[in-house]
Amino acid sequence: MYGKIHDEMKCAVSKMETYNDVYLRIRKSLKSAGITSPELEARMIISSASGKTKEEVLAMSKIYATDAKIKAKIEDSLSRRLKGEPLAYILEEWEFYGLPIIVSPDVLIPRMDTELLAEKAIAILNAKPWQTRTLDLCAGSGCIGIAIAAKVASSRVVLADVSEEALGICRQNMLKNNQSRNITPITADALKSPPSLLGAFDLIVSNPPYIPTKDIETLENSVKDYEPLSALDGGEEGLEFLKAIAGKWSKILKPGGHMALECGIGQAAAVRYIMKQGGLSDIKTYKDTGGVERVLTGKAT
Ligand code: GLN
Repeated sequence: MYGKIHDEMKCAVSKMETYNDVYLRIRKSLKSAGITSPELEARMIISSASGKTKEEVLAMSKIYATDAKIKAKIEDSLSRRLKGEPLAYILEEWEFYGLPIIVSPDVLIPRMDTELLAEKAIAILNAKPWQTRTLDLCAGSGCIGIAIAAKVASSRVVLADVSEEALGICRQNMLKNNQSRNITPITADALKSPPSLLGAFDLIVSNPPYIPTKDIETLENSVKDYEPLSALDGGEEGLEFLKAIAGKWSKILKPGGHMALECGIGQAAAVRYIMKQGGLSDIKTYKDTGGVERVLTGKAT
């Protein structure tokens, strides 16, 4: 009798996993599914499910993972990830410019390439030693404008998006990053003329949709099946938004104000031309870490 109970207990204990066992198991599954950073993703999944930092998760490695809620969350995250969902949507948060950014399928996941746009925008504002006004058009999660407000103390930022859902995420990110005082979210369609009474800006920054419509189907599944198409599709040549922004919105730049735009592979020459047509000068192009001409800046006269 005691022998049987003892055997059952032994069996239960041997089935029990430590956090390190869980880590090794999910890392293996992620690796077999062809995910490129299984170690990092496994740690991030456990960290998010347990509400602990990566360091705290490491410190728990010998502890038995007994909390049913945490375990269920880990298994749910793993199965969603194995089906191809981007990790950012599973964790509901992603890092941009060192800041935590809440994301949902209503907004594009902040990309590392876009940090170059934020970096150039911040450098432009740092050269303007007065209280500046910045407009982040097609703001999505609000990541660019929030990075600007967080890093440039003298800046006031307007986050504009056509999607009410995206503006809801912007508001959450303003709160999360303690930037509600410095930022105003507004509804605006970048394809139309700026609403009156918006005032003039020292900087207009934008990462608009720029993928040519016909290229959408060639995007990775994790992008085309999960991310909002309205944040990606830039019309036939992908330039519809960039044209409208450089054409219509440059009119609300202050004299000497700047515009900073992100574009896709092979679009920089066309965007340079579009910016010139919009009356901008001193146009500069910057390459991302992959060597792609990704960001252009120009100045209003
Ligand atoms: N850079 C994004 C991608 O490659 C596209 C972003 C955009 O259209 N603004 O999927």
